[in-house]
Amino acid sequence: MAVQKTSPFDPASVRKDFPILHRKVHGKPLIYFDNGATTQKPRVVIETMKRIYEKENSSIHRGVHHLSNRMTEAYEEARNTVRKFIGAANSHEIVFTSGTTGSINAVATSFGEKYVGPGDEVLVTVMEHHANLVPWQMLCEKKGAHLRAIPMNDRGELMLDHLDSLFTERTRILSLTHVSNALGTINPVKDIVARAHERNIPVMIDGAQAVQHLTVDVTDLDCDFYVFSGHKIYGPTGIGILYGKEKWLEDLPPYQYGGDMVDQVSMEKTTFNELPLKFEAGTTNYIGAIGLGKALEYLQGFGLEAIAAHENHLVDYATNYLGQVPGVRIYGKARERIAIFSFRMENIHPYDVGMILDKLGIAVRTGTHCAQPVMQHFGIDGTLRASLAMYNTTDEIKRFVSGLRTAISMLT
Ligand code: PLP
Repeated sequence: MAVQKTSPFDPASVRKDFPILHRKVHGKPLIYFDNGATTQKPRVVIETMKRIYEKENSSIHRGVHHLSNRMTEAYEEARNTVRKFIGAANSHEIVFTSGTTGSINAVATSFGEKYVGPGDEVLVTVMEHHANLVPWQMLCEKKGAHLRAIPMNDRGELMLDHLDSLFTERTRILSLTHVSNALGTINPVKDIVARAHERNIPVMIDGAQAVQHLTVDVTDLDCDFYVFSGHKIYGPTGIGILYGKEKWLEDLPPYQYGGDMVDQVSMEKTTFNELPLKFEAGTTNYIGAIGLGKALEYLQGFGLEAIAAHENHLVDYATNYLGQVPGVRIYGKARERIAIFSFRMENIHPYDVGMILDKLGIAVRTGTHCAQPVMQHFGIDGTLRASLAMYNTTDEIKRFVSGLRTAISMLT
């Protein structure tokens, strides 16, 4: 990925770009550690979208007038920004969707319709978010196919020794997460793609928890599909990306039908538009797409390497501090990880701790994190999850750990 750095990375000044970080919750300064669920938005994204609604809004692709042309240009520029951000070769390999869930359902529907039949196998992993599990499970049920899963060990790392026996003649696709939302594990997706390709098995990567933390280059990964959500990478909600290699997007049927995705329509027959519009039926979330483009440009201003260096520092700091709290057990200790911490405290339910942290202005998530098979692996009913982002600081980690100590003293 070509990164154009314009600003040095300084968390204190980054925080100034995010208006919500300056509010209080229950009278306390907000510590936002729920970034795995959604990230906050920098001013440039908020203001771009506000300006469009106030001054520039018009539906794209269908008008001859100034505003429509201007919006179409901005939409296609955003597509090109996404292309550069993930290192794709062509803009028409970038499809705008409603989010990661939308993108995965699109591939499961379109690819599944064409290539998965009775007795075939679809391979996932046990650490998938439900968004990358349930669509495949439903497809397999419908088609009489079998869902198989790569297991993981107690560190939360995939057991890749099992891979060769899980790849069979009937494996039609492997769909796996780049980074686990429940454990923080970074999977070695490049190697996995290479091993799948040796068997001619295409691979889709769920990048929902990866693109905001790691430099992703889909050409280097050589994956067949890569998907992510705008709202988890400092962009708006309701917009997401489906990257697909040209050969697949040309080959696969549309998964939704309607306006804009067609070329010629008569009462007898319809022909489809060229890529990527073939996969963008109806009025898309074009303002969301432009907002996402701004978010990616904002990140490129620092460079993903600089952001990752800061976040790695937070990982070390938080691991050390959390490890000092008596009774804390961290789930997910992969050697390669991002700043997501899933943990429980001895004899205390995560929900109770979450409630006390909330009263202290600290936002964490409690529950299964839409990854129930991960919880089943560890035999637990949920965890507390602190998920950090570029604007979080070591000082916040200290206050969070002191909040945990308060919770322990109140609940034991
Ligand atoms: N995949 C992973 C790994 C996730 O963490 C999430 C959301 O938390 C999703 C998919 C679904 O993303 P969205 O709800 O934005 O479609």
